[in-house]
Amino acid sequence: MDTHELIIIGAGAMGSAATYHAAKAGLNPLLLEQFEVGHSNGSSHGGSRITRYANPDIEESRVIPATFRMWRELEQESGQRLLDITGSLFMGPDSTPFLVDTRAALQLNEYDYRDLSSQELATEYPQFNLPDDWVGLYQADAGRLNASSCVRAMVDQAIARGAQLKENTEVAQFVPDADCVMLALSNGEQFYTKRLIITAGPWASRVLNPLPNLDLDLRITRQQVAYYPLEQEELYRKENFPVYVFAAEPNLYGFPILEKPGHVKIALENENLTTNPDDPRAVMEDNAQALNEAVAKHFNGVVPEPASIETCLYTETPGRKFIVERHPDFANIAYGAGFSGRGFKFSIEIGRQLVELVEQ
Ligand SMILES: Cc1cc2nc3c(=O)[nH]c(=O)nc-3n(C[C@H](O)[C@H](O)[C@H](O)COP(=O)(O)OP(=O)(O)OC[C@H]3O[C@@H](n4cnc5c(N)ncnc54)[C@H](O)[C@@H]3O)c2cc1C
Repeated sequence: MDTHELIIIGAGAMGSAATYHAAKAGLNPLLLEQFEVGHSNGSSHGGSRITRYANPDIEESRVIPATFRMWRELEQESGQRLLDITGSLFMGPDSTPFLVDTRAALQLNEYDYRDLSSQELATEYPQFNLPDDWVGLYQADAGRLNASSCVRAMVDQAIARGAQLKENTEVAQFVPDADCVMLALSNGEQFYTKRLIITAGPWASRVLNPLPNLDLDLRITRQQVAYYPLEQEELYRKENFPVYVFAAEPNLYGFPILEKPGHVKIALENENLTTNPDDPRAVMEDNAQALNEAVAKHFNGVVPEPASIETCLYTETPGRKFIVERHPDFANIAYGAGFSGRGFKFSIEIGRQLVELVEQ
C-alpha cells in the first residue's frame, strides 16, 4: 500500500495554491481534481479577479502586500504576466460603511490613498454617471489577477517541484484517521495519505459535512459577469481606468479593457441561491436585465447590451468570513471553504496557511 505524504482535494485557486506551497516545502503532494484544471464549473476560472490593498477588513488588508509579493514571485517562476496594476476606485455616499471602514483600514495599515470629492470624481472619471452625493476613494496598489493563468501557473510550478496531479478524479468519500486517511474515488480506486487538505469550493458541504463534529454553514449563490462592447474605447484603457466597486446600490464592480479587446467586464452581485453545484448554468435573466439597466444609467461610452455572459459560483459563510481550519479531532486534516466571492486575491496566502496547518 502506497501512503502519500499529503493529498489535496480540489484544483481551484485554494487547492492549487496549497499544492504549490506543499511542493515547495518538499512534501510531494498529490492533487485530485474531479474535472480538469481550468474547468468552468467552480469559482476560479476566467481572466480577471480584482486584488486591492483597499479592503474594509483591517486584518485581511494587512496580508495583501504579502500576496502581491507571492504573485510576483509566481510570475518570475512561470515567466508569465499574472497581475496587472490599474489602481482601484470605490464609489458611494461618503457615509457608506464600506467606504468608512475601508478608509479606516487604509489609515491603520498606513497605505496611501486619495479621497475624491463628488466634483473630482465627475471630472476625473467621466466614464461614470453617478448621483451627486457620491464620492470616490482611490488606491494605487490594486489591479487584476488573471485567475485561470494563476491557477495553471501554481499547478505547473508544483508539478515542476515533484507534485502529482490526477484530473477527472472525484473523491467519493474518505475515512479520517489520525495516522492514515483512506480516500475512495468514484472509479473504485483507493488512496492513502498521512495528511489531507480539502478545498472543494461549492462542493465543500458535500465533501466535508460527513466528517464527525463538522457542520459548515455554507450557501452557494450563482453569479454572472457580462462583457459589454464599447463606443468609446479610449475611456476604458487600463492606463486611465481602474478596477472599481460601487459601494452602494446598484453594487456593481468591474474592470478596464483587459480580457476581450474593445469590451469591459461588469458584474452585479446577486442572491440567486442554489443547493446543487452541479445544476446547469442557465443565464439568469433578471440579473442580466438589472445589470443592463444599471450599465445604461451609470456608464458613458458603453453599449448596454452584453456580447457574452458567463456564470460562476460563490460559496458564502453567514458573515462572509473565510473558513481556514484544522479539523477539531484530526490534526492531519485541514480545509478551506466559504471564500464568499472575494477569496481569489488571498488564495496564494491561504494555500500557504493550509499547508502550515497540516505540517504542525
Ligand atoms: C464571478 C466571480 C467573481 C469573483 N471575483 C472576485 C474578485 O474580483 N476578487 C477576488 O479576490 N475573488 C473573487 N471571486 C472569488 C474567488 O474567485 C473564489 O473565492 C475562489 O476562486 C474560490 O476558490 P476555491 O478553490 O475555494 O473553489 P473552486 O475554484 O470552486 O475549486 C474547488 C475545486 O474542488 C474540486 N472538487 C470539489 N469536490 C471534489 C471532489 N469530491 N473530488 C475532486 N475534486 C473536487 C472542484 O471541481 C473545483 O475544481 C469571484 C468569484 C466569482 C464566482
